[in-house]
Amino acid sequence: MSEETLSNLSHEERRFPPPPELSAQANVTTDTYAEAAADPEAFWAKQAERLTWGTTPTQTLDWSNPPFAKWFADGELNAAVNCCDRHVEAGHGDRVAFHWEGEPGDTRTITYAELTDEVCRAANALTELGVRAGDRVAIYMPMIPEAAVAMLACARIGAPHTVVFGGFSADALASRIADCDCQVVITADGGYRKGKPSALKPAVDEALTRCPGVRNVLVVRRTEQETAMTEGRDLWWHEFVGRQSSEHEAQMFNAEHPLYIMYTSGSTGKPKGILHTTGGYLVGTSWTHWATFDLKPETDVFWTAADIGWVTGHSYLVYGPLTNGTTSVMYEGTPETPHQGRWWEIIEKYKISILYCAPTAIRTFMKWGAEIPAKFDLSSLRILGSVGEPINPEAYVWYRTHIGGDRTPVVDTWWQTETGMHMITPMPGVTAGKPGAAMTPVPGISVEVVNDEAQPVGNGEGGYLTITKPWPSMLRTLWGDDERFVETYWSRFPGMYFAGDGAKKDEDGDIWFLGRVDDVMNVSGHRMSTTEIESALVSHPKVAEAAVVGATDATTGQAIVAFVILRSEAGDGGPDVVQELRQHVAKEIGAIARPRQIMVVEELPKTRSGKIMRRLLRDIAENRELGDVTTLTDSTVMELIKDNMAGAK
Ligand code: ATP
Ligand code: MG
Repeated sequence: MSEETLSNLSHEERRFPPPPELSAQANVTTDTYAEAAADPEAFWAKQAERLTWGTTPTQTLDWSNPPFAKWFADGELNAAVNCCDRHVEAGHGDRVAFHWEGEPGDTRTITYAELTDEVCRAANALTELGVRAGDRVAIYMPMIPEAAVAMLACARIGAPHTVVFGGFSADALASRIADCDCQVVITADGGYRKGKPSALKPAVDEALTRCPGVRNVLVVRRTEQETAMTEGRDLWWHEFVGRQSSEHEAQMFNAEHPLYIMYTSGSTGKPKGILHTTGGYLVGTSWTHWATFDLKPETDVFWTAADIGWVTGHSYLVYGPLTNGTTSVMYEGTPETPHQGRWWEIIEKYKISILYCAPTAIRTFMKWGAEIPAKFDLSSLRILGSVGEPINPEAYVWYRTHIGGDRTPVVDTWWQTETGMHMITPMPGVTAGKPGAAMTPVPGISVEVVNDEAQPVGNGEGGYLTITKPWPSMLRTLWGDDERFVETYWSRFPGMYFAGDGAKKDEDGDIWFLGRVDDVMNVSGHRMSTTEIESALVSHPKVAEAAVVGATDATTGQAIVAFVILRSEAGDGGPDVVQELRQHVAKEIGAIARPRQIMVVEELPKTRSGKIMRRLLRDIAENRELGDVTTLTDSTVMELIKDNMAGAK
């Protein structure tokens, strides 16, 4: 058994207890955990009262046909009404829903009343185009307010949306449109990225040569660049939506009515079409948004710095925040445009109190240096969140120190496209944070770290993360493929949801993520975690970012190969940097973890949501053809790394 358990379990002694003034007024307390543990279903039934229902549900969970769950199955509601109209009716029509900041510096302020009107117009427009409840609509947009409006308009008429990240190619767009058989596409002429307008519409035109089922394309004018419009198919948003009425009577839909399909980021293989439905998803996202971020809707200004084409954009930029009547910031562009302090300037300008972003961004800011954020007033921040990958302890401490003024709790939220909502995270008023740990399940959620025999591991041991009870915002299936749904998530450990992530329980029973099960390395019979070796590398003062993979090795089975990006103040690292780093890992974790090879690189291959794609690095380390690269941010990165690798041999 010991050979099968993850063997490089590192130690971290730093602790950050919650600020007492935050705890004193916290939304979640230790009582919340106790209440949820006593009766999880009753707990979720109570949270369902956060929403406005047309028909109040009398049932909570229907698990009579596992793993196909139904939540609140006899309830009826409308998602858009919950995000918009009801706040206006409650007297909050003048509250800002979005402070939008365009990359060139243009801005828009959209109140809940304005958002409601715009969503109604767009709903009427879609109806005029013949879109009916159940029809799928593709959304391929830059980060502009119309992206959220388009999602909500679809939800309002019961047409499931599938948002495709605006940076994806025509191919990726075409395959998603085809997979869920969309009839209408909503897009824009383009958006601003890195200081210039980049076009979107040509990719739609190209994709549609392969998607004959698409009848209409609605095009938002953002950049005013020359845009080809196909007569009879393409319509300008400002004309067609602009002339619609802002009156729209929303129909109520069953709680299990499909809300959207979202394709996963593809870090471990071909993307999967995750289906989320309405009632349970909104209960889960609304409650966790309020709980994890200790949200005070009257005073907080919340910023999820993630793209709408990623699940984080769905759950914590649109549905969670809007059901809670939150004031959010939405930013169109890149963090370095026009200067590397752009994010901090935005935080100062809007007095943002809660920031939610990915470790990849934090490591980039570390690489650029702490003197950049130091020029801005970030004192409005009170909570920082992290999502997308395990956060390396060093990145966590940097984030807390240099962005949070050593004051703010950091919530490291573990979840997936499939889970819809946060599942494992500290709660800012309760948990004493440990840098690098996702800590404990959210109240109402049951998880277990198990070994190969599905037995719970003890404290201090590693294994596989499973979820042992259904939860409201769980995926209902993979679009059109129930069999793959059962096979992927429910067959490895019968009766439990298999997340595909390695995890460990520390001596206190708190949970740490160790990387994808697909990425775990086996070195001389020892199973090694990619995350822990990467974190050891990042804890060296010269390193900003690291990716570790296992490459086939004649003597050890697999050998550790690391790719590192240095911090800018480290220059080229000096002649002995590789030896220095190998020694550092050996000291931090043990000789067995010493990488066989370390490559200093400029960039790492990442998905659009900022996750390192280790499978591509493994292909390189083992001299193979590259696998599926459609969700890669920048394909030239792989060429650079390959050349680098060849030069080093
Ligand atoms: P695919 O399933 O197609 O490979 P993906 O898993 O990258 O894509 P997402 O659903 O966006 O797509 O990512 C979820 C995964 O991200 C989790 O399974 C986990 O590996 C990782 N993750 C997200 N947040 C955290 C976190 N806070 N700590 C550790 N890992 C995280
Ligand atoms: Mg996944």
